[in-house]
Amino acid sequence: MISDVKGRVIRVISERRLVANFLELVQVDSPSGRERKLADLLKEKLLSLGLFVQEDKAGQKMGGTTGNLIARTSDFSQRDRLFLCAHMDTVEPGQGIKPLVEKGIIRAKGNTVLGADDKAGIAVILEAVQVIKEEGWFDRCGLVVVFTIWEEGGLYGAKNLYYTSSRVPLGYVLDCDGPPGTIVIQAPSQDKITATIKGRAAHAGINPEEGLNAIYVCAHAIARMSLGRLDEETTANIGLISGGRATNIVPEAVYLEGETRSLNETKRQKQTEEICGILKETAASFGAKACINTETIYPGFCLSEEAPVVQVAVKAAQSLGLTPRLKKSGGGSDANIFNSQGIPTANLGLGMQKVHTTEEFIRVADLVTSARYMVEIIKKTAEGNL
Ligand SMILES: [Zn+2]
Repeated sequence: MISDVKGRVIRVISERRLVANFLELVQVDSPSGRERKLADLLKEKLLSLGLFVQEDKAGQKMGGTTGNLIARTSDFSQRDRLFLCAHMDTVEPGQGIKPLVEKGIIRAKGNTVLGADDKAGIAVILEAVQVIKEEGWFDRCGLVVVFTIWEEGGLYGAKNLYYTSSRVPLGYVLDCDGPPGTIVIQAPSQDKITATIKGRAAHAGINPEEGLNAIYVCAHAIARMSLGRLDEETTANIGLISGGRATNIVPEAVYLEGETRSLNETKRQKQTEEICGILKETAASFGAKACINTETIYPGFCLSEEAPVVQVAVKAAQSLGLTPRLKKSGGGSDANIFNSQGIPTANLGLGMQKVHTTEEFIRVADLVTSARYMVEIIKKTAEGNL
């Protein structure tokens, strides 16, 4: 038996079980909104671990095939002390994934993503729960495990999560790149901007002077915008544009989608207003029209370094000899939603790399370390060792 410096028995992570679980999960297709097969498999696994499992109605609300899964070590939500979350969906191309383990690295064989984002998070949570159960910590850990649907492209599962416990002091989303020990404590809010520029159609050869080229107007507007990284906290992008029907028609309409993000709410609002203003002014200056819609997709969050949720993660990392890295992120995650709902939630790095590309991979060693890290966090919470 192995003990740590305090004489506590070191929990045994089974690398073989963890990797087998991960490989099984990535081979179950779960595109956003169609996670039913994976949810059924996970329900079985959670039940066999002895957890109380519920499925909420987020899927019905969103037109998806399943709801979020909510599983607890106790059937009393009042006892919830620690909230762990990973999302079930994966980005495209993410169907028919065939994983390959080679020299301690797991990647996808074909032309797909691996889906470590975020099945690594799910596998790590399952392994940690298994170990905690074997170690007899179930009764005192007050653990609630949430596997969300449809995180990619809108955080829809988290936004529609039916979660009744009012005050869980600690939340962790396992959905971040960076080595284990990476703790995201700040993430931006995001606005989505959609716009249609309306000009006037005409024959491009016979009477072009009667037309008003919407593509031309739109190009002028975009050329005036500040895009990309605007400062340390703020980014903006026009990411989609479509319009026109044929070369012999002066295009009457262009549709575009863009976004702004910032760690600073005021800067994000200002940037969104600026982009909308440019679209309107430019359209007006050509005699065209701009119909614009903006929506705040998710709020940002900022956790203090002294917050218990950060301190537990830092101390758990240190006690495993990992370097805690407190990080600001440029991306949103389910943690943005949970923080806005009053659960202080950090996003933890699992070592997944090149996510959202067909070169995505994760090291077996990082999966194992992440599972050990999770066990440590659960134990620290149970001990009240904040
Ligand atoms: Zn993810």
